[in-house]
Amino acid sequence: MEQRVKFNTELIKRYDIAGPRYTSYPTAVQFMEGFDAEAYRRNTADSNSELIPKPLSLYVHLPFCRSLCYYCGCMKKVTRHEHQATHYLGLLDREIELQGKLFDHDREVIQLHFGGGTPTFHNDEELKALVKQLGRHFSLSKRDSREFSIEVDPRTVGIERLAELAAMGFNRISLGVQDIDPAVQKAVNRVQDPEATLEMIDGSRNLGFNSVSIDLIYGLPLQTVESFGKTIDTVVEAKPDRLAVYNSSRN
Ligand code: SF4
Repeated sequence: MEQRVKFNTELIKRYDIAGPRYTSYPTAVQFMEGFDAEAYRRNTADSNSELIPKPLSLYVHLPFCRSLCYYCGCMKKVTRHEHQATHYLGLLDREIELQGKLFDHDREVIQLHFGGGTPTFHNDEELKALVKQLGRHFSLSKRDSREFSIEVDPRTVGIERLAELAAMGFNRISLGVQDIDPAVQKAVNRVQDPEATLEMIDGSRNLGFNSVSIDLIYGLPLQTVESFGKTIDTVVEAKPDRLAVYNSSRN
């Protein structure tokens, strides 16, 4: 049976404007000096005192990358010096401990997201230690309904590493693809094998990941409507659960 996609023109018009990146929460425009550490402590204490305290969502930012993608607008640190990342992980351990003290331990963490940067810049032992530290200071949900996701750079992760991530408790991944055209990839300094990337979608399903999201970017150098159309067709054929399509000028 023929399936047609229906677009809601009103909705498209309403949101066809520049806005903050929805992947940050709170978004950058909501940061202000009037909300200081004391106010944060007060708010967390108040949230613990609610009649039924809400479950928690945690975001862990891992900013390191091995090379720079020219379109990138993320909060990242490009380095090949592992010791910088090791130092950061030490500080993160301390931050987790401090944050953990602010929330009642019976408040379950039902959403966890590792974003970057490139979380998989860190090796499996480091990521395992990080998840363990989170488990020490927070109650990480064990339920199937938990949403524990990690951004995966297919240049640093194969099926074997995916299995390790699944064993750590992650059940959702987000894969950075952007564009599969080799000329575009070269122009933005992010060359990755599209076949290997697409195999990861199948591989992650076999490993029990229940959601695979793909990031694409339009407006990159050398892209044409036709070439980006080809990227979309190829990616859609692999049936990811979600596509996040960004405009390069907002990245
Ligand atoms: S796009 Fe991702 S991998 Fe590339 S530099 Fe930015 S954060 Fe690093």
